[in-house]
Amino acid sequence: MKVLVVGNGGREHAIAWKILQSDLRPILYSARGNAGIWKIATKVDLDPTDVEGIVRFAVKEKIDFVVIGPEAPLVEGLVDALEREGVPAFGPNRIAAQLEGSKVFAKNFMAKYGVPTANFEVFDDPQKAKRFVEDVSAPLVIKADGLASGKGAIVCRTRQEAIKAIDLLMIRKVFGKAGERIVVEEFLEGEEASYIVMVNGDRYIPLPTTQDHKRLLDNDEGPNTGGMGAYSPNPFITKEMEERIKKEIIERTLEGLKREGIYFRGFLYAGLMLTSEGPKVLEFNVRLGDPEAQAILLRWKSDMLRDLLDFYQGKDVTLKVKDCHSICVVIASKGYPESWEKGKVIEGLETVEEDVVIFHAGTNELEGKTVTWGGRVLNVCACEKDLTLAKEKVYNAIQKIKFEGMQYRRDIGDRAIKFYQK
Ligand code: ATP
Repeated sequence: MKVLVVGNGGREHAIAWKILQSDLRPILYSARGNAGIWKIATKVDLDPTDVEGIVRFAVKEKIDFVVIGPEAPLVEGLVDALEREGVPAFGPNRIAAQLEGSKVFAKNFMAKYGVPTANFEVFDDPQKAKRFVEDVSAPLVIKADGLASGKGAIVCRTRQEAIKAIDLLMIRKVFGKAGERIVVEEFLEGEEASYIVMVNGDRYIPLPTTQDHKRLLDNDEGPNTGGMGAYSPNPFITKEMEERIKKEIIERTLEGLKREGIYFRGFLYAGLMLTSEGPKVLEFNVRLGDPEAQAILLRWKSDMLRDLLDFYQGKDVTLKVKDCHSICVVIASKGYPESWEKGKVIEGLETVEEDVVIFHAGTNELEGKTVTWGGRVLNVCACEKDLTLAKEKVYNAIQKIKFEGMQYRRDIGDRAIKFYQK
């Protein structure tokens, strides 16, 4: 069967790698992919958001199943367009993708259906927003309504910072239309966690728990990024906490979607703050996280392609998970997340041991060499019987990889390792 994976990052390389292990013997295509994906899939030279181009290709090539990695094509309606042509695609349609595509939609939805989240106000007028923040206590969080590549949430320690953030989003419009409306949100304290489930209407299957590392530098310092590493399982999500997340967040959300007449099929990701009052939603994503996906797929034991197809068709699926601890460390370019140079030759990839898996993110193939092509470049991953060993394997492997200006965090997994040692 022919499967098309849409997206260019480490998450999509992990999806392609895992799907390829299926006993359905898929023939893989990738739009547009990266140097790692092109080793296992045929490159389709189309941008992931080129909805028309992707639909035309899928129809012409008689693609049997499309798996979409990133949010932008989902929010643009790629699933709707594919399904209109009879091409099955795993991911939510445009309306359902609003849970991620519009923070205002998501917050109003949560308020309506009692899904715990930070208190908030919505503004489309910068003057009103500024008057409001002058009367509330800091810290607080200012968020652009639309997609902003993970940079649209600004945590403000003082009212002055909040005023600046309003200017940035609504007057200087650094994220364009995405910042025309904003959410001003109460600052929540606690442990951050992600919880991802596979959804088909009112049925859902939880995926292994993970922990992301959003900040650029060790000890959670420096600017926010797309994610610098992840591990799975996440010991901070206890069984008890997981039950609360399912009941108070996932099930209320699915019930709300049903009442709104919105059919959701795909991955639903709840970005959470585990507060002293319980879990609260910081944001919804309508796809797998990156790099959370890499940590999850290393532990996905059953045939992922079969699981996705069966689940898509409404059949019963029992997800089998490997009893191991996985870790994914992101290697980024110098200058990430602000700006970075491309085209640095990457060396040492072939010397990495077999029990370490490397997923490519921003890479390209130039004159027979693998070169850097994005902010996040490589994901070095392993899955072992304990997290300490997995971490050791990954960091040993990183010593063998070289490109000019490479940067990575040294402490991925440390908080969980400390937790296990207690
Ligand atoms: P991404 O899609 O990359 O996860 P985003 O732009 O959609 O990011 P959020 O996930 O809403 O934004 O927020 C980004 C980060 O800001 C969170 O991971 C969290 O660290 C912090 N944050 C967001 N909202 C709050 C809040 N209410 N209280 C405390 N911290 C928050």
